[in-house]
Amino acid sequence: MTIGPLMSVTTTFDNRFVAHTYNRFPLEIVSGKGSILVDADGKEYIDLGTGIAVNIFGVADEEWAAAVTAQMSKVQHTSNLYYSEPCALLASELCTRTGMRKVFFGNSGAEANECAIKVARKYASDTYGPGRATIITLENSFHGRTLTTLSATGQDHYHELFTPLTPGFVSTPANDLAAMRAVVERLAANPADPCADLVGTGAAGEVAGILIEPIQGEGGVVPLSVEFVQGVAALAKEFDLVFCIDEVQTGNGRTGTLYAYQQYGVFPDVVTTAKGLGGGLPIGACMMAEHVADVLGYGDHGSTFGGNPLACAGAINILSRINGTLLAGVQERSLIVFEELSGAAGIEDVSGMGLMIGVKTTRPAREVVEACLERGVVCLTAKDRVRLLPALNIPIELLRSALSVLKDEAAKVQ
Ligand SMILES: *Cc1c(COP(=O)(O)O)cnc(C)c1O
Repeated sequence: MTIGPLMSVTTTFDNRFVAHTYNRFPLEIVSGKGSILVDADGKEYIDLGTGIAVNIFGVADEEWAAAVTAQMSKVQHTSNLYYSEPCALLASELCTRTGMRKVFFGNSGAEANECAIKVARKYASDTYGPGRATIITLENSFHGRTLTTLSATGQDHYHELFTPLTPGFVSTPANDLAAMRAVVERLAANPADPCADLVGTGAAGEVAGILIEPIQGEGGVVPLSVEFVQGVAALAKEFDLVFCIDEVQTGNGRTGTLYAYQQYGVFPDVVTTAKGLGGGLPIGACMMAEHVADVLGYGDHGSTFGGNPLACAGAINILSRINGTLLAGVQERSLIVFEELSGAAGIEDVSGMGLMIGVKTTRPAREVVEACLERGVVCLTAKDRVRLLPALNIPIELLRSALSVLKDEAAKVQ
């Protein structure tokens, strides 16, 4: 496919000097406004990807930029040796809006999950002594790229090249409560059992915690059932396991509520989030409920940039705008997407919640996404699906135009 100036300085230097860890599309985004992106040739695109659920109010958002700029002219960084107002206010706002009690800030989703894993393991060792360090995650999950969050990611093909990984992760199938309970009971009966027959890096004693995404994002936009998530919450309570929800992608209004767990009728011990929270600046948050709020003490965890004033000032602005009106707009737009795409030619299934949507096309997803890109619509893939993560305030007319291009391309089945 040919999009943009293929021999530009950017592509030449990128191919030569940037590590080849990404299979980039031939597109260089240089600017934009809201849900419109502009490439290096001046061509415009409708954005249904938001930089992977990050730019939830689109690009060059003035309110967010003003909040960040105002902070920038005061102080850009202080370190965590001192108090900082944006960090304190953001934590307070997150706790007020969720009922969580304390927040640890990092810079990414992976770091937020690292913190959740540390909380689960430390709670278990504080409460029960050593020997209770296993975390159960789900098969087909995604929790990050650091060695430990990779270990938590329940897909063995991510693991193979990087062994030895962090031990203590066992994965069971999504929406299968009996399989998860079986691991908890098996390790309670015999903590020395490595569970080597299961997906994961092997058990490390009895179960300390459970970590799940409410909708498996990278796994292909697979929502968990309400019964399953409520069952996991009850299982965690029964065995005093730290129940952690990874809302790195589902969080911050994406699914139609501030956090997706709020639609599942559960109250987790730990909620992690990142992507959309910063509105484009790197931030990760690990929120802890009362039960585990003081598990981490002085020196137990840290991050130089975590809680950075610029990222926090931006996030305060973002959070203040995820209100009832915005969330109603997310539901309205979600309905439009489901109505337009469900049952359309070449579309086999539409999954997801709110504005986190997976579209199973008969044509290969990557091919559809490339064709849409040529026609000025930016979409993503997730496994074998086209994935849509538009801005939460995308103008409805733009959304409809983009969907008609997607439908048209999906219908081109050979
Ligand atoms: C993106 C993602 C992560 C990793 O976030 P990074 O900021 O890339 O470290 C973790 N969990 C889920 C569910 C994600 O979607």
